[in-house]
Amino acid sequence: MERKQHTLCVKLRKDDDFSFLNVRINICGAIWNAGCTIMREYYKNTGKTMTKGMLYAQLGEMRKHIPSWSLVYSQVLQQVADRILAAYELFFTNIKKKKNGAKLKCSPPKCHKIRKQKSMTFKQYGKGFLFTGPGEVTIQGKKFRYYDSYDGLLEQAAVHTMTVKRNSLGEIFLYITCSADTKGESWEGRSAVGMDFGLKRFLTLSDGTVIEHPEFFKQYTKEIKGLNRALSRKQGGKKGEAWSSGYKKSLEDLARLHLKIANQRRDWFYKLSRELCKRYSIICIEDLNMKAMQMHKHWGRKVSDYAYSEFVLILKGIAEKFGTAVVEVGTFFPSTRTCNECGHVNDKMAPDIRTFVCEECGYTIDRDLGAAINILSEGLRILRETKADSA
Ligand SMILES: [Zn+2]
Repeated sequence: MERKQHTLCVKLRKDDDFSFLNVRINICGAIWNAGCTIMREYYKNTGKTMTKGMLYAQLGEMRKHIPSWSLVYSQVLQQVADRILAAYELFFTNIKKKKNGAKLKCSPPKCHKIRKQKSMTFKQYGKGFLFTGPGEVTIQGKKFRYYDSYDGLLEQAAVHTMTVKRNSLGEIFLYITCSADTKGESWEGRSAVGMDFGLKRFLTLSDGTVIEHPEFFKQYTKEIKGLNRALSRKQGGKKGEAWSSGYKKSLEDLARLHLKIANQRRDWFYKLSRELCKRYSIICIEDLNMKAMQMHKHWGRKVSDYAYSEFVLILKGIAEKFGTAVVEVGTFFPSTRTCNECGHVNDKMAPDIRTFVCEECGYTIDRDLGAAINILSEGLRILRETKADSA
């Protein structure tokens, strides 16, 4: 067994009352502003920055006199101070880089509007938060429920920190760092698979399984087009035109829809990743950068809509939990052009040709399936080589 560090993210259930959390995040915003002001004044007067201890003490002193601040846990207040200090450090590093000729914008951390404060962080498990049951977390004595996308992992994990983060839709997510056991290389009973990404089909697996894009993606594409049309009809769409209230409303609708799509897509990626990792012990995929580049060349900006990189990131995270190995197949491997039967590397194929026919032996196979099979055998070869190296 191996202990690994993870950052997990879960969403709080909507029906809980979030004002308890929002009030506290707002106070963190006020603390941030106070901290930035104190630091700036001190720097102006002395030419030095405050030490961590000094800033903690100053803010701690203020906490005694501002009643609302006592709602915020003292370690949460300290974490806001930590972030200000880190921002100052970055500021000084950037100044140095700038002196050496780098083009950088640099300014010390500034005050911001309270609603721009997005999060608060608890530094230590048991100090301000506890996972108290299946899908249940207690934050400063108040219970909240979350969608348990990790099948109870959080209850067994050694939890370190938790960040409560809100977005512009009023949703709240928890980001939890923890150590959890992963099974390492216990791959018994599960098989290896190669996967090819595509635009028409999301995934083609080397065992013939095809995973299509869920229907809701297509519906939303229509909706987005409609909203964009509505937007262009409203006053404010042209350059220099003042935004009308209708224009603003349409903008908001569009932003909301984009967020909704992103959320649904992420949920789907999690679900799919879990299914794949339960089923397979080794998953071979193509190196993502390369894949994105190829697809970009052929298909243009549409590629980003499918968020492959997000999917691979999620897949890797879930794979760790299940003890599944994700093997990335190298950059210059011609997965779509290599014959599964004789190994001959064929000439370039146009992206819209769906069937592979080998010039050498005449072997015929679905293009994506052939690619997935090649990705699998290349992935297994890499895995054998790495094992031989480390043995
Ligand atoms: Zn062939």
